[in-house]
Amino acid sequence: MQQAGIYIHIPFCRARCSYCDFATGTYQAPLAERYVHALVAEINSAQLCTLADADTIYFGGGTPSLLTPAQLETILRAVHARFRVAPDAEVTMEMNPGTVTPETLRAYRSLGVNRASFGLQTFDDEQLRRLGRTHTADDARRTLANLRAADFTNISFDLIAGLPGQTIEQWAHNMDEALALRPEHLSLYLLEVHEGTPLADQITRGMWPRPDADTAAEMYRLLLERIAQADYEHYEISNFCLRGHESRHNLKYWTGAPYFGFGCSAHSFDGARARWANERDTARYVELIETNRSAIVETIELDEREASAESLFLGLRLMRGVNLAQHRTRFNTDIHAQYADELARFDDAGLIQLDDNWLRLTPAGVLLSNEVFAAFV
Ligand code: SF4
Repeated sequence: MQQAGIYIHIPFCRARCSYCDFATGTYQAPLAERYVHALVAEINSAQLCTLADADTIYFGGGTPSLLTPAQLETILRAVHARFRVAPDAEVTMEMNPGTVTPETLRAYRSLGVNRASFGLQTFDDEQLRRLGRTHTADDARRTLANLRAADFTNISFDLIAGLPGQTIEQWAHNMDEALALRPEHLSLYLLEVHEGTPLADQITRGMWPRPDADTAAEMYRLLLERIAQADYEHYEISNFCLRGHESRHNLKYWTGAPYFGFGCSAHSFDGARARWANERDTARYVELIETNRSAIVETIELDEREASAESLFLGLRLMRGVNLAQHRTRFNTDIHAQYADELARFDDAGLIQLDDNWLRLTPAGVLLSNEVFAAFV
């Protein structure tokens, strides 16, 4: 069994971005304090993962960097009491520019946070305003300098492409500026417009053009070029890193390792067949925990076929692909026989590369990955 990853969801933000549909709301100090206590209670009472070995901890959100160092310490103590955490564990915190000071960064670092995932999104102030982000490009540059000064040597940037009205030139400028800062890791998101968000409403009312899929694909292609020139490794469809800086936590999601999530909307997987998910609403989650009830609202037991399919389409997100011998041993199935028609079709179209041991996407397949994944669902 691979070592587990621990995910902690922090559902608070300074303000809600116009495109966001994550489980998060505006920060309220009293609710945040109750939430931290609820998290600790949930971790303390977790039945399915007591004393599992873990080598990654990931604070996601929301904006985890709104936690005070004392709150972070309280949560980390609970995690260390419940899991055997490896001494060299990767401990990531998602941060938004402008929510941290040099002092809080030093405090987080001294508590063991050794990786910062930094929601930069774009260096264009006009676009940042349009997205409802509460920071400017200068805030991002300053936060990065503060992270380096606080001894963060593993920093990831999130960038969003395909913003409404964003031109290829603007995107190229963004990429150049991001790469010049040499983050150890980069994650790319293509803007998705979710119904019910203010951005969807603004687009419907004609305030901004609808993001264009062809332009977004062109931006992705351009990023692949620049990334290669800058010596970054493209290790997952949307993730890039300097050598040796893959996200160890996120690799767990793509390789079928166990992970245990705590907090509202957190998901867990036992590394075999069982998945479960927590209540999404923050106040309801707190209420469930405070009244000694379980926060789990959904459990799924995958059958053999579903588990095999899931392992295939998650594994195909990695550029190295899926090791077929390991897949055969794990699921007792031969995908050459099981998906003969689909594999032949994708092979003919140049979307996959298949040999006796590995199945992986080709560069053309990466651009049409959703089409390939759909065949395995
Ligand atoms: S900071 Fe992130 S999680 Fe918070 S509202 Fe904006 S997009 Fe959503």
